[in-house]
Amino acid sequence: MNELKLSKRLEMVANLIPEGSTLADIGSDHAYLPIHCYLKGIVPFAIAGEVVEGPFKTAKNQVNRLDLHTWIDVRKGDGLDVITTGEVNAITICGMGGALIASILESGKEKLAGVNRLILQPNISAVSVRRWLLHNGWKLIEEKILEEDDKIYEILVAEPGDSTQPYTSPNQTKELLLGPFLLREHSSVFVKKWMLEKENWERILSQLEGAAPSTEVEEKKVELTTYIQFVKEELN
Ligand code: SAM
Repeated sequence: MNELKLSKRLEMVANLIPEGSTLADIGSDHAYLPIHCYLKGIVPFAIAGEVVEGPFKTAKNQVNRLDLHTWIDVRKGDGLDVITTGEVNAITICGMGGALIASILESGKEKLAGVNRLILQPNISAVSVRRWLLHNGWKLIEEKILEEDDKIYEILVAEPGDSTQPYTSPNQTKELLLGPFLLREHSSVFVKKWMLEKENWERILSQLEGAAPSTEVEEKKVELTTYIQFVKEELN
């Protein structure tokens, strides 16, 4: 992978950025995504944010090597600290856990005024991101799922709006876990993902059966049993 040939995952993210957006890519690492989006004419300007010194330097070097520093600004900082309110209208946060993505959005909430699209790619726990969007007035408008190098990725796209709209059931828990659009689409990759997750949960549950009883263990068992039931209802 490089700035010209992105991974299938980042290519899919790039295709979800509205043309002409000013972009902030948070946790940009090598800055391949913003560089690619600029070179392909998708965005006229992008900020690449990185909190860790090593990837920050890598991103800076990449941008300088290609002489793109006028159009791609590499900034060091935590989450949305690297942008000012109103500076960008699209944000990508990719390749991190869902809980971390949700906490970055939560801590930088005030910076989201004027942002009209979030493209979020959690490696795990997409449910944490869906929950944050639901409770913060961000309407999930599209979801993608793909498999690359034996890993399955979900991509969530949200815009400001009625965040309850994509959810059809009175009990949103199942749709929050599986993804309302992905659940309806029911692709073979979706089925594969949840079959694998179910097997994993069943393994953990059987280990918990032998654990010393505690409130935490009991709560975990209830959660896993609920999730396993959701997957069984949808996939069997
Ligand atoms: N976004 C790229 C991708 O999807 O290929 C890189 C993903 S890499 C696995 C995650 C990057 O996020 C790391 O470079 C890490 O330093 C950065 N990161 C983690 N927490 C961050 C935060 N709070 N603010 C900014 N960057 C962060």
